[in-house]
Amino acid sequence: MAAKKMPPIQIARRISLGIVLVGFTVLTILHQRLQGIPSVDALDPFGGLETLMKFLAGGEFIKKLMPSNIVLFGAIVALGLVLSRFFCGWFCAFGALQGVFGWIGKKLFKRRFEVPKKVDRVLRWAKYPILVGIIYFTWTTASLVIRTYDPLAAYAHLSAGFSELWAEFGVGFILLVLIMVGSMFYDRVFCKYVCPLGAVNAILSRVPLFRIKRIENTCISCSKCDRVCPMNVEVSTVQSVNSPECIACMECVTACPTKKPSLVATLGGKALNLWTVVIIGLAIFVGAALIGQATNMLQFVAPKLTDLATKGNINVADIKGSSTYAEVAAAFGIETERLYRELGLDMKKVPETTKLKDTAAVAGIEDFETDTVRFAVAKILGVPYAGESGETSAVVKPAAQETTAAQAPASQQTETAQPAETAAKTQATTFAVPADFVLEGTMSIQDVAKALSVSTKQVIEKLGLPADIPVDKPLRDLKDQYGYSMATLKEKIKQ
Ligand code: SF4
Ligand code: SF4
Repeated sequence: MAAKKMPPIQIARRISLGIVLVGFTVLTILHQRLQGIPSVDALDPFGGLETLMKFLAGGEFIKKLMPSNIVLFGAIVALGLVLSRFFCGWFCAFGALQGVFGWIGKKLFKRRFEVPKKVDRVLRWAKYPILVGIIYFTWTTASLVIRTYDPLAAYAHLSAGFSELWAEFGVGFILLVLIMVGSMFYDRVFCKYVCPLGAVNAILSRVPLFRIKRIENTCISCSKCDRVCPMNVEVSTVQSVNSPECIACMECVTACPTKKPSLVATLGGKALNLWTVVIIGLAIFVGAALIGQATNMLQFVAPKLTDLATKGNINVADIKGSSTYAEVAAAFGIETERLYRELGLDMKKVPETTKLKDTAAVAGIEDFETDTVRFAVAKILGVPYAGESGETSAVVKPAAQETTAAQAPASQQTETAQPAETAAKTQATTFAVPADFVLEGTMSIQDVAKALSVSTKQVIEKLGLPADIPVDKPLRDLKDQYGYSMATLKEKIKQ
């Protein structure tokens, strides 16, 4: 019997998923080799939810995340409200990857395997506590706590080489292998049971705008729709597919054999052509991109250190794994030799053109963190730096006389390093700051002074801000103009 032709809408879906997967994979490979290519973290819409709290509190982002994450997450929310889990079925790179392994499994085993219904029903709930746990730990620690365990991050670092992959994403890599092997036996195993973004979409899909409706008069109860559904939704017995598991792939609609349609896609109760659904999905993404562009939030890569230094708005925390030693030294006005000495690195072994993240491989050492360089620069400049987690206050004192804060670029001095006179003044500005006091970006200097029962002058001095800074404006609105970051202020107020 001749193989049945694939409906055009399903060809379009596979092309869409293919483009997303290939594009994502190519970007992750290029990111390992070139500067200015977005990292997996900047491309992950879930990162928008992870950094949302920090962004709302102070207009800042969790390290490694970018404004693009908020834009992508906004697009997911809009898409989820209008078209339920359309993102999962049409645009998700990890869903596409599972689809590839699912296809290989079908070719190898000629059949799909089933999870007992009772077990399946219980396991489907697992993704919700996983979502809550990730949000809780990310928001409370303000860092990407699950990154090491993230199979998508592991996939994105396959091209970094096994030793780096294993060192940074060991658990994520094991999960990745398990998920891909599992997908060969069982469709979309990660989407069904684990995916936190799928859980977000499932929650959003409770808004009943998009639904697949079954027309009982024409349905011949052949159950074909049930058999093709990758999410194991029982379509043939319901009037309307309300399941939060439906990923709007439309496989059931295109598989239905009746001449008069028995399954139709509806939006707000009105039947829609399948192509119209696809166009709406695309339009929501394009619309989000345009809004992101208009609000200047469509940034996928962090600005270069040297550009930040030129603009006079540079901070130790801006040092990235993709920066080279030469760039770090130039941007912060440090002698390269001094930086190498502080790090205990041999310049002959590790040339100054080495990217920080390649240090371990180039130097032939087991492990080397970019944060080590941030601490070293902070120590040389004599400025505070809180570490990658942002939790521990690590105020670093100058280690040697040869390079002082005075040698840092003017911009650096403005933001973090202080001339000796100002430093002395700051030390004299001592007042009790309760341990549970949180400096928010929405607060003005007046608010802080009121909360701590001190004068605005004391707050300005403690934060090392210019005396003429407006005291009635939210601190986050002034950071660009006065060249500080909220993270720096939060550190200073605790000192
Ligand atoms: S119910 Fe239909 S549209 Fe929803 S996931 Fe299953 S096959 Fe796809
Ligand atoms: S495939 Fe169509 S006809 Fe067959 S059970 Fe599903 S809705 Fe009814």
